[in-house]
Amino acid sequence: MMRIGLIGAMAGEVNELISEMRNRTEESVGRFVFYCGEISGAECVVVQCGIGKVAAAVCTQTLILKFNPDAVVNIGVAGGIGEEIRIGDLVLSEAVVEHDMNTTALGDPLGFLSGPDLVYIKSDCRLLSVFCETAEKLGNRVHRGVIASGDLFVSNASQAKKIAERFSAKACEMEGASVGHTCFLMNVPFLVLRSVSDNADDSAKIDFPQFAALSAKKYGALIRAALPVLQEEFQGEGTE
Ligand code: SAH
Repeated sequence: MMRIGLIGAMAGEVNELISEMRNRTEESVGRFVFYCGEISGAECVVVQCGIGKVAAAVCTQTLILKFNPDAVVNIGVAGGIGEEIRIGDLVLSEAVVEHDMNTTALGDPLGFLSGPDLVYIKSDCRLLSVFCETAEKLGNRVHRGVIASGDLFVSNASQAKKIAERFSAKACEMEGASVGHTCFLMNVPFLVLRSVSDNADDSAKIDFPQFAALSAKKYGALIRAALPVLQEEFQGEGTE
């Protein structure tokens, strides 16, 4: 059976999943509490990583080394960028980028990850297609594209526009690219799945507190429906 790691930054992004796990056990490592159990018959490990890139990277690495997941999905809310992306829509990562990684003074492109020598890290295409197709079947408004992360709550239109223009990003948040970068370094397939809580503009300060909890409820049903499909897909390829 495949094992899926599910990481969310805030309590409201993971609590519902944790409470519906069957045969649940928990294990603490440092300040992280990892919940192991079943969701829709699939073996899962769910953890709250906290806000920002450092917390997300450390938590992802611990999840991978300690629990050896076959895939990692970062769930949560995000600022949607662009007029067609509305509060409550889902954005799934084709790729992730760290919008605040900047060695341009040395001639590198913005967002360049020296070492891998990449700007964008691609998500796993099987995870992407299973989650997108399932989300559409469930009647969600779904966008797939680049998700940009940085240690910044984006809350004005000019910041959001810059991120969109520089990286063609459809959403911005604070952990996804860090989870993706860590998974890339550790050779673990990953996906970032975000529900839009605000539009990363001047109203984000009002919209975020109002919609974060509500938007986080958008992907519970999707995860429950997608996990069994994913399990078949991965098992079909002999990775159980
Ligand atoms: N002290 C606050 C901080 C929340 S930061 C708290 O603990 O609740 C916002 C969180 O939501 C981050 O995890 C980020 O990934 C996501 N997010 C939602 N909208 C965002 C935006 N416009 N810019 C950056 N991150 C956003």
